Amino acid sequence: MIIKPKIRGFICITAHPEGCAAHVQEQIDHVLSGGPIKDGPKNVLVIGSSTGYGLAARIAAAFGSRASTLGVFFERGSSNGKPASAGWYNSVAFERKAKEAGLYARSVNGDAFSDAVKHRVVDIIQKEMGKIDLVVYSLASPRRTDPKTGETYRSVLKPIGAPYTANNLDTDRKVVAPITIEPATEEEVAATVKVMGGEDWELWMSALEQAGVLADGCTSVAFDYIGPEITWPVYTNGSIGAAKKHLRATGARIDASLKVNRGRAFVSVNKAVVTQASSAIPVVPLYISILFKVMKEKGLHEDCIQQLDRLFRKQMYNDGFLEFDDSGRVRMDELGMLPDIQAEVAAIWPQVASANLEELTDFAGYQSNFLKLFGFGLAGVDYEAETNPEQDFGYDVEVQA
Ligand code: NAD
Repeated sequence: MIIKPKIRGFICITAHPEGCAAHVQEQIDHVLSGGPIKDGPKNVLVIGSSTGYGLAARIAAAFGSRASTLGVFFERGSSNGKPASAGWYNSVAFERKAKEAGLYARSVNGDAFSDAVKHRVVDIIQKEMGKIDLVVYSLASPRRTDPKTGETYRSVLKPIGAPYTANNLDTDRKVVAPITIEPATEEEVAATVKVMGGEDWELWMSALEQAGVLADGCTSVAFDYIGPEITWPVYTNGSIGAAKKHLRATGARIDASLKVNRGRAFVSVNKAVVTQASSAIPVVPLYISILFKVMKEKGLHEDCIQQLDRLFRKQMYNDGFLEFDDSGRVRMDELGMLPDIQAEVAAIWPQVASANLEELTDFAGYQSNFLKLFGFGLAGVDYEAETNPEQDFGYDVEVQA
Protein backbone atom coordinates (compact mmCIF):
# COMPACT_ATOMS: atom_id res chain seq x y z
CA MET A 1 0.00 0.00 0.00
CA ILE A 2 0.98 3.66 -0.29
CA ILE A 3 1.07 5.27 3.13
CA LYS A 4 0.51 9.00 3.61
CA PRO A 5 0.30 10.99 6.84
CA LYS A 6 -3.17 11.25 8.37
CA ILE A 7 -3.07 13.80 11.16
CA ARG A 8 -5.82 13.96 13.76
CA GLY A 9 -5.26 16.79 16.23
CA PHE A 10 -1.87 16.25 17.84
CA ILE A 11 -1.29 12.73 16.54
CA CYS A 12 -0.69 11.11 13.20
CA ILE A 13 -2.65 7.88 12.88
CA THR A 14 -0.47 6.43 10.14
CA ALA A 15 3.26 5.67 10.03
CA HIS A 16 5.67 4.74 7.26
CA PRO A 17 7.88 1.65 7.76
CA GLU A 18 10.78 2.71 5.53
CA GLY A 19 10.52 6.28 6.81
CA CYS A 20 10.71 5.12 10.44
CA ALA A 21 13.70 2.93 9.51
CA ALA A 22 15.39 5.97 7.91
CA HIS A 23 14.70 8.00 11.06
CA VAL A 24 16.27 5.27 13.21
CA GLN A 25 19.26 5.16 10.84
CA GLU A 26 19.74 8.95 11.14
CA GLN A 27 19.99 8.52 14.90
CA ILE A 28 22.38 5.58 14.60
CA ASP A 29 24.56 7.65 12.24
CA HIS A 30 24.67 10.47 14.76
CA VAL A 31 25.94 8.15 17.49
CA LEU A 32 28.45 6.41 15.19
CA SER A 33 29.82 9.78 14.07
CA GLY A 34 30.98 10.43 17.64
CA GLY A 35 33.03 7.21 17.76
CA PRO A 36 32.78 4.55 20.46
CA ILE A 37 31.56 5.44 23.94
CA LYS A 38 34.37 4.13 26.11
CA ASP A 39 33.45 2.04 29.18
CA GLY A 40 29.78 2.31 28.20
CA PRO A 41 26.94 0.06 29.28
CA LYS A 42 26.93 -3.56 28.16
CA ASN A 43 23.53 -4.99 29.12
CA VAL A 44 20.74 -2.48 28.95
CA LEU A 45 17.02 -2.50 29.71
CA VAL A 46 15.05 0.42 28.25
CA ILE A 47 11.46 0.78 29.47
CA GLY A 48 9.69 2.95 26.88
CA SER A 49 12.20 2.19 24.12
CA SER A 50 10.18 2.65 20.92
CA THR A 51 10.07 6.43 20.42
CA GLY A 52 11.45 9.70 21.79
CA TYR A 53 14.04 9.73 24.55
CA GLY A 54 13.83 5.98 25.24
CA LEU A 55 14.57 5.06 21.62
CA ALA A 56 17.48 7.50 21.60
CA ALA A 57 18.85 5.89 24.79
CA ARG A 58 18.61 2.43 23.21
CA ILE A 59 20.42 3.63 20.09
CA ALA A 60 23.15 5.41 22.09
CA ALA A 61 23.75 2.26 24.19
CA ALA A 62 23.74 -0.18 21.27
CA PHE A 63 25.62 1.80 18.65
CA GLY A 64 27.81 3.84 21.00
CA SER A 65 29.02 1.02 23.20
CA ARG A 66 27.83 -2.15 21.46
CA ALA A 67 25.44 -2.95 24.30
CA SER A 68 22.90 -5.76 24.26
CA THR A 69 19.50 -4.12 24.64
CA LEU A 70 16.10 -5.28 25.80
CA GLY A 71 13.36 -2.81 24.89
CA VAL A 72 9.88 -2.58 26.41
CA PHE A 73 7.08 -0.61 24.76
CA PHE A 74 3.35 -0.55 24.11
CA GLU A 75 2.80 -0.30 20.38
CA ARG A 76 0.30 -1.39 17.76
CA GLY A 77 1.28 -3.87 15.09
CA SER A 78 -0.29 -3.74 11.63
CA SER A 79 -3.71 -5.36 11.33
CA ASN A 80 -6.31 -5.57 8.57
CA GLY A 81 -3.91 -3.89 6.16
CA LYS A 82 -3.59 -0.79 8.40
CA PRO A 83 -0.13 0.56 9.20
CA ALA A 84 1.41 -0.25 12.56
CA SER A 85 2.32 2.56 14.97
CA ALA A 86 5.58 4.45 14.49
CA GLY A 87 7.10 2.92 17.62
CA TRP A 88 6.46 -0.55 16.21
CA TYR A 89 8.25 0.26 12.95
CA ASN A 90 11.07 2.02 14.83
CA SER A 91 11.59 -1.06 16.99
CA VAL A 92 11.53 -3.53 14.08
CA ALA A 93 14.04 -1.31 12.24
CA PHE A 94 16.23 -0.93 15.32
CA GLU A 95 16.36 -4.70 15.86
CA ARG A 96 17.23 -5.39 12.23
CA LYS A 97 20.04 -2.85 12.27
CA ALA A 98 21.32 -4.02 15.66
CA LYS A 99 21.38 -7.64 14.50
CA GLU A 100 23.13 -6.66 11.24
CA ALA A 101 25.77 -5.02 13.45
CA GLY A 102 26.10 -8.26 15.44
CA LEU A 103 24.34 -6.91 18.52
CA TYR A 104 21.84 -8.70 20.76
CA ALA A 105 18.44 -6.95 20.70
CA ARG A 106 15.15 -8.18 21.99
CA SER A 107 11.76 -6.50 22.48
CA VAL A 108 8.68 -6.93 24.63
CA ASN A 109 5.40 -5.31 23.59
CA GLY A 110 2.87 -4.91 26.39
CA ASP A 111 1.82 -2.82 29.35
CA ALA A 112 5.01 -2.03 31.29
CA PHE A 113 2.89 -1.18 34.35
CA SER A 114 1.72 -4.80 34.58
CA ASP A 115 3.30 -7.64 36.55
CA ALA A 116 3.10 -9.86 33.46
CA VAL A 117 5.51 -7.66 31.48
CA LYS A 118 7.91 -7.39 34.43
CA HIS A 119 7.93 -11.20 34.79
CA ARG A 120 8.59 -11.71 31.08
CA VAL A 121 11.43 -9.20 31.14
CA VAL A 122 13.06 -10.85 34.17
CA ASP A 123 12.72 -14.23 32.46
CA ILE A 124 14.40 -13.00 29.26
CA ILE A 125 17.22 -11.35 31.22
CA GLN A 126 17.85 -14.53 33.23
CA LYS A 127 17.80 -16.78 30.19
CA GLU A 128 19.53 -14.59 27.61
CA MET A 129 21.34 -11.61 29.07
CA GLY A 130 22.96 -12.25 32.44
CA LYS A 131 22.89 -9.09 34.54
CA ILE A 132 21.71 -5.61 33.61
CA ASP A 133 24.07 -2.65 34.14
CA LEU A 134 21.79 0.14 32.91
CA VAL A 135 18.03 0.58 33.33
CA VAL A 136 16.50 3.52 31.44
CA TYR A 137 12.97 4.40 32.53
CA SER A 138 11.34 6.49 29.79
CA LEU A 139 7.61 5.85 29.88
CA ALA A 140 5.15 8.57 28.91
CA SER A 141 1.60 7.36 29.26
CA PRO A 142 -1.84 8.88 29.76
CA ARG A 143 -3.03 6.01 31.97
CA ARG A 144 -1.89 3.28 34.31
CA THR A 145 -3.61 0.31 35.87
CA ASP A 146 -2.24 -0.41 39.33
CA PRO A 147 -1.23 -4.09 39.24
CA LYS A 148 -2.10 -4.55 42.93
CA THR A 149 -5.63 -3.11 42.93
CA GLY A 150 -6.62 -3.30 39.25
CA GLU A 151 -7.68 0.36 39.44
CA THR A 152 -6.96 2.51 36.38
CA TYR A 153 -5.66 6.05 36.81
CA ARG A 154 -5.63 8.77 34.13
CA SER A 155 -3.11 11.59 34.09
CA VAL A 156 -4.09 15.17 33.31
CA LEU A 157 -2.08 18.16 32.11
CA LYS A 158 -3.57 20.90 34.25
CA PRO A 159 -2.42 23.68 36.60
CA ILE A 160 -2.86 23.35 40.35
CA GLY A 161 -4.75 25.85 42.47
CA ALA A 162 -5.80 28.42 39.85
CA PRO A 163 -6.76 28.52 36.16
CA TYR A 164 -3.94 29.17 33.68
CA THR A 165 -4.36 31.32 30.59
CA ALA A 166 -1.68 31.46 27.91
CA ASN A 167 -1.24 31.54 24.18
CA ASN A 168 -1.57 28.07 22.73
CA LEU A 169 -0.60 26.79 19.29
CA ASP A 170 -3.04 24.46 17.61
CA THR A 171 -0.42 22.65 15.54
CA ASP A 172 -2.96 21.02 13.23
CA ARG A 173 -4.91 24.20 12.39
CA LYS A 174 -1.87 26.52 12.72
CA VAL A 175 -3.79 28.86 14.97
CA VAL A 176 -2.32 30.75 17.91
CA ALA A 177 -4.97 31.75 20.45
CA PRO A 178 -5.24 32.04 24.21
CA ILE A 179 -6.59 29.07 26.13
CA THR A 180 -7.62 28.82 29.74
CA ILE A 181 -7.06 25.54 31.54
CA GLU A 182 -9.04 24.97 34.73
CA PRO A 183 -7.06 23.64 37.70
CA ALA A 184 -6.84 19.94 38.43
CA THR A 185 -8.81 18.52 41.32
CA GLU A 186 -6.88 16.86 44.15
CA GLU A 187 -8.01 13.52 42.80
CA GLU A 188 -6.66 14.35 39.32
CA VAL A 189 -3.30 15.40 40.76
CA ALA A 190 -3.09 12.16 42.73
CA ALA A 191 -3.99 10.14 39.61
CA THR A 192 -1.31 11.94 37.56
CA VAL A 193 1.26 11.11 40.25
CA LYS A 194 0.12 7.47 40.09
CA VAL A 195 0.68 7.38 36.31
CA MET A 196 3.75 9.55 35.75
CA GLY A 197 5.36 9.57 39.22
CA GLY A 198 8.02 7.14 40.37
CA GLU A 199 5.91 4.26 41.74
CA ASP A 200 6.27 2.06 38.67
CA TRP A 201 10.00 2.87 38.28
CA GLU A 202 10.50 1.62 41.84
CA LEU A 203 8.38 -1.50 41.18
CA TRP A 204 10.60 -2.25 38.18
CA MET A 205 13.80 -1.81 40.19
CA SER A 206 12.51 -3.99 43.04
CA ALA A 207 11.42 -6.72 40.61
CA LEU A 208 14.86 -6.70 38.96
CA GLU A 209 16.67 -6.56 42.30
CA GLN A 210 14.64 -9.40 43.80
CA ALA A 211 15.29 -11.54 40.73
CA GLY A 212 19.02 -10.91 41.20
CA VAL A 213 19.47 -9.54 37.67
CA LEU A 214 21.04 -6.17 38.52
CA ALA A 215 24.81 -6.04 38.05
CA ASP A 216 27.04 -4.50 40.72
CA GLY A 217 27.45 -0.85 39.84
CA CYS A 218 24.13 -0.75 37.95
CA THR A 219 22.89 2.69 36.87
CA SER A 220 19.26 3.71 36.44
CA VAL A 221 18.01 6.94 34.91
CA ALA A 222 14.57 8.51 34.38
CA PHE A 223 13.72 11.78 32.65
CA ASP A 224 12.36 15.08 33.90
CA TYR A 225 11.49 18.44 32.36
CA ILE A 226 11.45 22.01 33.66
CA GLY A 227 11.06 24.47 30.77
CA PRO A 228 10.54 28.25 30.91
CA GLU A 229 8.61 30.09 33.61
CA ILE A 230 5.79 30.92 31.19
CA THR A 231 4.82 27.22 31.07
CA TRP A 232 5.41 26.44 34.76
CA PRO A 233 1.71 26.72 35.71
CA VAL A 234 0.83 23.88 33.31
CA TYR A 235 4.02 21.85 33.70
CA THR A 236 6.47 22.29 36.60
CA ASN A 237 3.86 23.62 39.06
CA GLY A 238 0.99 21.64 37.54
CA SER A 239 -0.26 18.08 37.85
CA ILE A 240 2.59 16.61 35.76
CA GLY A 241 5.10 18.62 37.82
CA ALA A 242 3.69 16.96 40.96
CA ALA A 243 4.32 13.58 39.30
CA LYS A 244 7.90 14.60 38.40
CA LYS A 245 8.49 15.67 42.02
CA HIS A 246 7.43 12.17 43.06
CA LEU A 247 9.72 10.70 40.37
CA ARG A 248 12.69 12.64 41.76
CA ALA A 249 11.96 11.57 45.36
CA THR A 250 11.71 7.97 44.14
CA GLY A 251 14.98 8.37 42.25
CA ALA A 252 16.70 9.31 45.52
CA ARG A 253 15.36 6.13 47.18
CA ILE A 254 16.41 3.94 44.23
CA ASP A 255 19.83 5.61 44.33
CA ALA A 256 20.25 4.72 48.02
CA SER A 257 19.32 1.11 47.33
CA LEU A 258 21.61 0.75 44.27
CA LYS A 259 24.49 2.39 46.16
CA VAL A 260 24.68 -0.71 48.39
CA ASN A 261 26.23 -2.43 45.37
CA ARG A 262 28.11 0.65 44.09
CA GLY A 263 25.30 1.56 41.71
CA ARG A 264 23.42 4.84 41.24
CA ALA A 265 20.09 6.22 40.10
CA PHE A 266 19.36 9.74 38.98
CA VAL A 267 16.99 11.92 37.07
CA SER A 268 18.11 13.79 33.97
CA VAL A 269 16.30 16.98 33.04
CA ASN A 270 16.02 16.95 29.26
CA LYS A 271 15.15 19.79 26.92
CA ALA A 272 11.81 20.16 25.16
CA VAL A 273 11.71 18.24 21.88
CA VAL A 274 8.91 17.14 19.58
CA THR A 275 7.69 13.70 20.64
CA GLN A 276 4.29 12.06 20.73
CA ALA A 277 4.14 12.85 24.44
CA SER A 278 5.16 16.53 24.21
CA SER A 279 2.80 17.29 21.30
CA ALA A 280 -0.11 16.56 23.66
CA ILE A 281 0.90 19.17 26.27
CA PRO A 282 -0.97 22.48 25.97
CA VAL A 283 1.19 25.58 25.28
CA VAL A 284 4.47 23.57 25.08
CA PRO A 285 4.44 23.20 21.22
CA LEU A 286 4.46 27.01 20.91
CA TYR A 287 7.47 27.15 23.24
CA ILE A 288 9.21 24.41 21.23
CA SER A 289 8.62 26.28 17.94
CA ILE A 290 10.19 29.46 19.37
CA LEU A 291 13.01 27.59 21.12
CA PHE A 292 13.91 25.73 17.90
CA LYS A 293 14.24 29.05 16.05
CA VAL A 294 16.47 30.62 18.70
CA MET A 295 18.65 27.52 19.24
CA LYS A 296 19.04 26.84 15.51
CA GLU A 297 20.14 30.45 14.92
CA LYS A 298 22.84 29.94 17.56
CA GLY A 299 23.85 26.52 16.19
CA LEU A 300 22.76 24.85 19.45
CA HIS A 301 19.70 22.90 18.30
CA GLU A 302 19.37 19.40 19.71
CA ASP A 303 16.89 16.56 19.31
CA CYS A 304 16.50 13.40 21.45
CA ILE A 305 19.55 11.66 20.03
CA GLN A 306 21.92 14.62 20.52
CA GLN A 307 20.72 14.94 24.14
CA LEU A 308 21.09 11.24 24.94
CA ASP A 309 24.39 10.88 23.10
CA ARG A 310 25.73 13.77 25.18
CA LEU A 311 24.31 12.30 28.39
CA PHE A 312 26.11 8.99 27.72
CA ARG A 313 29.33 10.47 26.37
CA LYS A 314 29.87 13.50 28.56
CA GLN A 315 28.27 12.47 31.82
CA MET A 316 27.55 8.77 32.32
CA TYR A 317 30.47 7.11 30.53
CA ASN A 318 33.66 7.89 28.53
CA ASP A 319 35.52 9.04 31.69
CA GLY A 320 32.71 11.53 32.28
CA PHE A 321 31.10 12.03 35.65
CA LEU A 322 27.61 13.06 36.64
CA GLU A 323 27.26 16.76 37.36
CA PHE A 324 24.26 17.62 39.49
CA ASP A 325 22.37 20.87 40.00
CA ASP A 326 21.41 22.13 43.47
CA SER A 327 18.40 19.81 43.49
CA GLY A 328 20.47 16.74 42.61
CA ARG A 329 19.42 16.50 38.96
CA VAL A 330 21.59 16.12 35.87
CA ARG A 331 20.81 19.00 33.50
CA MET A 332 20.83 18.09 29.81
CA ASP A 333 18.57 21.11 29.20
CA GLU A 334 21.37 23.49 30.13
CA LEU A 335 21.87 24.85 26.59
CA GLY A 336 18.18 25.60 26.07
CA MET A 337 18.00 27.23 29.49
CA LEU A 338 20.96 29.60 28.87
CA PRO A 339 19.85 33.09 29.95
CA ASP A 340 20.38 34.69 26.52
CA ILE A 341 18.33 31.95 24.83
CA GLN A 342 15.53 32.20 27.36
CA ALA A 343 15.55 36.03 27.08
CA GLU A 344 15.08 35.78 23.30
CA VAL A 345 12.29 33.22 23.69
CA ALA A 346 10.57 35.47 26.24
CA ALA A 347 10.84 38.48 23.90
CA ILE A 348 9.32 36.58 20.95
CA TRP A 349 6.56 34.86 22.96
CA PRO A 350 4.10 37.80 23.38
CA GLN A 351 4.44 38.83 19.73
CA VAL A 352 3.46 35.49 18.16
CA ALA A 353 0.09 35.33 16.40
CA SER A 354 -1.35 33.03 13.74
CA ALA A 355 -0.38 35.50 11.00
CA ASN A 356 3.32 35.74 11.90
CA LEU A 357 3.81 32.18 13.22
CA GLU A 358 6.11 31.10 10.37
CA GLU A 359 8.15 34.29 10.56
CA LEU A 360 8.68 34.53 14.32
CA THR A 361 8.99 30.84 15.14
CA ASP A 362 10.41 27.69 13.59
CA PHE A 363 6.97 26.18 13.13
CA ALA A 364 8.19 24.62 9.87
CA GLY A 365 10.89 22.83 11.89
CA TYR A 366 8.29 21.76 14.45
CA GLN A 367 6.07 20.32 11.73
CA SER A 368 8.86 18.51 9.94
CA ASN A 369 10.04 17.03 13.27
CA PHE A 370 6.49 15.95 14.03
CA LEU A 371 6.09 14.22 10.65
CA LYS A 372 9.47 12.53 11.10
CA LEU A 373 8.20 10.92 14.31
CA PHE A 374 5.88 8.92 12.04
CA GLY A 375 8.45 8.30 9.32
CA PHE A 376 7.39 11.05 6.90
CA GLY A 377 9.62 13.59 5.18
CA LEU A 378 12.84 11.54 5.39
CA ALA A 379 15.35 12.04 2.58
CA GLY A 380 15.82 9.03 0.32
CA VAL A 381 12.41 7.45 1.04
CA ASP A 382 10.06 7.05 -1.92
CA TYR A 383 6.68 7.92 -0.46
CA GLU A 384 4.92 7.19 -3.76
CA ALA A 385 6.14 3.59 -3.77
CA GLU A 386 4.15 0.62 -2.52
CA THR A 387 5.22 -0.46 0.96
CA ASN A 388 4.34 -3.45 3.10
CA PRO A 389 2.66 -2.30 6.35
CA GLU A 390 3.23 -5.72 7.91
CA GLN A 391 6.67 -5.71 9.47
CA ASP A 392 7.46 -8.11 12.23
CA PHE A 393 10.18 -9.03 14.64
CA GLY A 394 10.47 -12.65 13.56
CA TYR A 395 9.40 -13.87 17.02
CA ASP A 396 6.51 -13.20 19.40
CA VAL A 397 6.97 -9.87 21.19
CA GLU A 398 3.50 -9.66 22.72
CA VAL A 399 2.79 -9.98 26.43
CA GLN A 400 -0.84 -9.75 27.55
CA ALA A 401 -1.34 -8.03 30.90
P1 NAD B 1 7.30 9.21 23.86
O1 NAD B 1 5.82 9.36 23.77
O2 NAD B 1 8.11 9.48 22.66
O3 NAD B 1 7.69 7.71 24.37
C1 NAD B 1 6.96 7.05 25.34
C2 NAD B 1 7.39 5.59 25.37
O4 NAD B 1 6.63 4.94 26.41
C3 NAD B 1 7.09 4.79 24.08
O5 NAD B 1 8.12 3.84 23.88
C4 NAD B 1 5.79 4.05 24.43
O6 NAD B 1 5.58 2.83 23.70
C5 NAD B 1 6.06 3.75 25.89
N1 NAD B 1 4.84 3.47 26.65
C6 NAD B 1 3.79 4.29 26.93
N2 NAD B 1 2.89 3.63 27.70
C7 NAD B 1 3.39 2.38 27.93
C8 NAD B 1 2.95 1.26 28.65
N3 NAD B 1 1.81 1.26 29.34
N4 NAD B 1 3.72 0.14 28.62
C9 NAD B 1 4.89 0.10 27.92
N5 NAD B 1 5.37 1.15 27.24
C10 NAD B 1 4.62 2.28 27.24
O7 NAD B 1 7.73 10.11 25.11
P2 NAD B 1 9.02 11.00 25.44
O8 NAD B 1 8.69 12.43 25.14
O9 NAD B 1 10.27 10.41 24.90
O10 NAD B 1 9.00 10.88 27.04
C11 NAD B 1 9.82 9.98 27.76
C12 NAD B 1 10.21 10.63 29.08
O11 NAD B 1 10.98 11.81 28.81
C13 NAD B 1 9.01 11.09 29.93
O12 NAD B 1 9.30 10.88 31.29
C14 NAD B 1 8.95 12.57 29.65
O13 NAD B 1 8.30 13.31 30.67
C15 NAD B 1 10.43 12.89 29.55
N6 NAD B 1 10.77 14.17 28.87
C16 NAD B 1 10.24 14.49 27.65
C17 NAD B 1 10.54 15.71 27.08
C18 NAD B 1 9.99 16.11 25.73
O14 NAD B 1 10.10 17.30 25.37
N7 NAD B 1 9.43 15.20 24.97
C19 NAD B 1 11.42 16.60 27.74
C20 NAD B 1 11.98 16.22 28.97
C21 NAD B 1 11.64 15.01 29.53
